[in-house]
Amino acid sequence: MKIAVIGGGPGGYVAAIRCAQYGGDVTLIEEGPLGGTCVNVGCIPTKALLKGIEPLAQWSHFEKLGLEGPKPSMHVGKLLKHSNKAIQMSRQGIEYLLKKNSVSLIHGKAYAIKNHTIYIREGDKETSIEFDKLIVATGSLSSSIPGIEVDQEKIIFSDKALELTEIPTNMVIIGGGVIGCEMATIYNQLGTNVTILEGQSQILPCEDTDAAHALQKSLQSSGIKIHCHSIVSSVIREKESVRVVWTQNQQSNSLDTDIVLMAIGRRPNILPSLLDPLGIQYSHKGVLTSPYLETNHPDVYCIGDLNGKWMLAHTASREGMIAAARIFQKETPPIQYGLQPSVVFTHPELVGVGKRIADKTFTYPYSANGKARASGIRDGFVKVFIEDNQLVGCTFFGDHASDMISLATMAIQNKISLSELSFITYPHPTFSEVFGESIELAENMAIHM
Ligand SMILES: Cc1cc2nc3c(=O)[nH]c(=O)nc-3n(C[C@H](O)[C@H](O)[C@H](O)COP(=O)(O)OP(=O)(O)OC[C@H]3O[C@@H](n4cnc5c(N)ncnc54)[C@H](O)[C@@H]3O)c2cc1C
Repeated sequence: MKIAVIGGGPGGYVAAIRCAQYGGDVTLIEEGPLGGTCVNVGCIPTKALLKGIEPLAQWSHFEKLGLEGPKPSMHVGKLLKHSNKAIQMSRQGIEYLLKKNSVSLIHGKAYAIKNHTIYIREGDKETSIEFDKLIVATGSLSSSIPGIEVDQEKIIFSDKALELTEIPTNMVIIGGGVIGCEMATIYNQLGTNVTILEGQSQILPCEDTDAAHALQKSLQSSGIKIHCHSIVSSVIREKESVRVVWTQNQQSNSLDTDIVLMAIGRRPNILPSLLDPLGIQYSHKGVLTSPYLETNHPDVYCIGDLNGKWMLAHTASREGMIAAARIFQKETPPIQYGLQPSVVFTHPELVGVGKRIADKTFTYPYSANGKARASGIRDGFVKVFIEDNQLVGCTFFGDHASDMISLATMAIQNKISLSELSFITYPHPTFSEVFGESIELAENMAIHM
């Protein structure tokens, strides 16, 4: 079967490899560098920068543990070099995997589709390929507030923020979502005075309130200013600076800053020239898809940010695997958006999965955990959400949170009962014990609390 995949991000390249593993004759079309947003201007560079600034973020903590000497400073050029190397290695890794799985790669822009033929252009070169089944994974683009022009000089999107060689003195970040909080963490440690303006009542409006408030407190104590309930009305470029105007509780405020980062979210990269000829249904929120990533066209699937359901890399990849299984009539469960973990890689991290509202909740603090105490960490907690004696959701706020959330995902997805979960032995001393103890707490049987 001839499979075409448009877009080589974590949705598209994973779908292509999985289709090849099932025996498909697969062609991947990518107009930019392999890896899409995730590898080039998203997950990988942000995490490379966050890793670089981690010692700075934790400096005062290690001083308390006995570390002496002046606080080191960051060589931004070297940090960017490290980030670029991580990007380069990830791209090369994908290229290797495509070759290993005999996926053909066409560098170029898919610009039109007629029946079962895709037309591709690269520079003045034109080519076309035929397909039996098509997976569209053209990703997403940064959004802006209507009327505010993002010039990518003084008013920038996150991609530009990942390559600034001069660290600004002041930065206003519009949007306290995941990208806003991660960027604030990075720039704050690089010495920038960061102000976050968030329209809702809390940063990370979709996350558990206790966890979001804990993160907000932590960001503020590291020097980041956060204004919630703040609706930005204009961003005006002055000669040397940028003026941001917003209303907060019906009061007008303004601030002059060096740079504004627009981080209000992303929108699906809908390309009518590809979708309309096939009659594919979409709205501004994304392409309409079934839980098996089918569109209304029997031969076309749509995965990743383009369907606008859950704009994270791991979900794009999962959707790619489900679409591939469906095409090759392999058994697969549908995508469960309620079980896609959300992760904010700040210091400390905030992660969650499943329902964040339930009949009963139990919170177990890091301060009751031996490894946390040995590490000098007092802040942090796990909160479990219980319904009918079953774990239905979980939030971690604290160190190593992103590595532990899969314990909860596995338990919820497989409907493991609380009593079964409480029989699991966790290595001691580890942070993972907080998860085990939170389950025992839900059973009213916690030992250390
Ligand atoms: C700053 C930032 C940080 C992030 N951090 C994380 C994180 O830590 N964890 C996480 O899970 N997610 C993170 N994300 C989100 C993640 O990057 C996206 O959810 C993910 O990349 C979506 O994958 P995708 O395959 O759907 O689309 P993309 O990765 O956007 O890939 C789409 C690809 O399609 C190509 N394309 C588009 N149109 C055409 C065409 N006509 N012809 C050929 N090729 C085309 C594009 O060039 C692109 O390479 C982050 C995003 C940003 C912006």
